[in-house]
Amino acid sequence: MTLDNILVEIKKAEKIVIMAHETPDGDAIGSVLSMYLALKKLGKEADVIVKEFPRTFSFLPGAKNIKTKSDIEKYDLAISLDCADLKRLVGREYFEKAEKTIVIDHHGTNTMYGDLNFVNPVSPACCEILAGMLEYFDISIDSEIGSCLVAGIITDTGGFKYSSVTAETFEFTAELLRKGVNVSEIYQRVLETKTKSSFELLRRATNRLELLEGGKVAFTYINKKDEKEVKAEPGDHEGIVENGRSIEGVKVSVFIREKEENFYKVSLRAGNGSNINVSDICYVFGGGGHPRAAGATVQGTVEQVKEKLLKEIRKAFC
Ligand code: AMP
Ligand code: MN
Ligand code: MN
Repeated sequence: MTLDNILVEIKKAEKIVIMAHETPDGDAIGSVLSMYLALKKLGKEADVIVKEFPRTFSFLPGAKNIKTKSDIEKYDLAISLDCADLKRLVGREYFEKAEKTIVIDHHGTNTMYGDLNFVNPVSPACCEILAGMLEYFDISIDSEIGSCLVAGIITDTGGFKYSSVTAETFEFTAELLRKGVNVSEIYQRVLETKTKSSFELLRRATNRLELLEGGKVAFTYINKKDEKEVKAEPGDHEGIVENGRSIEGVKVSVFIREKEENFYKVSLRAGNGSNINVSDICYVFGGGGHPRAAGATVQGTVEQVKEKLLKEIRKAFC
C-alpha cells in the first residue's frame, strides 16, 4: 500500500528535499518541520525549502534549518506537503528533477502529481495526516515533532472550530498534552498573536470591507502599496478573510491581495451556516482548496477581479 511504499522510498533515499505551497501557512510550516524532524529520527538529514517564512512560526523546532534554495540539483527523493498542485509548489525545480516524488496532502483538488500520492481530503490538516503516518511508521512523536504538528492542526482548524475537526483531532491533541506539548502556548503564539503590521493591514482591510449582494458577500482587499506602507512581512495577511466570514448573514467572504501588477491572490471562505462550495468557485479560476476555504489567482484590477468573482458567486447562490 502507498504508506508502506512511502516508507520504503524514504529509507532508500540519501538526498531528500521537503517542500510545501507558496505563501506558507501554519499547516505548510508545521508539515515540513515535523517531516524534517521525523526523518532525522530515521537518520536522514533532509533539506527543507521554504520561501517567505512567516516570523510567527520561527519558534518551532527545526525552523532554523530551513533553506530558501539548495546547491543539490538532483535529489533522490522530493516530498511535497500540503500543496494541491505543482504550480503552487515552492521548490518545484527540485521536485521535477528528483528521482522519486511523494505528495502528502488534504486538498480535495489535489492533482496527484507525485509518483506516490497520499491524499485524504477529509483530514482537517496535512499535519493530522502526518500524525497518523508517523504512528504507522513507528516513529515516536516527541514534544518537538508534536509542537510542529499541533501548530498546523490549530491553524488549519481555526483553533479546533471548523467542521472539519474530527474526534481524532482531539484525541491526538490530548495525547500531545500528555507528552508535555504546551498546546495552550502554541495556540496563543500561532492564532492569538499579531504583528503590528498585520494589525495595520487588518485595520485597512476592515475599513474597506463592503457588504454586497444584500449582505451575503463580504469583500475586501489589500494592495502592494498597503503592504509597503505598513512594512508587512510574510504571513501578515493571514486571518483577514476570517473577519468577513463572521459577519451575520455573510455566505461568502472574499479577500483579495495584490500578488504582482494586475494579478490578485484570491481567498474565499464560506460563512457560518453557508452551504456554498468555495472550492468549486476557485476551481473556475484555476485554483482550488477545500469546500469552506479555497484560493486562486485572478488577473485584473481590484474592480475587475471583484466583478469576475461576483459573477461566479451569484451562480452559486442560484
Ligand atoms: P488561502 O485563502 O490562501 O488561505 O487558502 C485557503 C485554502 O485553499 C488553503 O488550504 C490553500 O492551500 C488552498 N488554496 C489556496 N490557493 C489555492 C490554489 N490556487 N490552488 C489550490 N488550492 C489553493
Ligand atoms: Mn496550507
Ligand atoms: Mn493545510
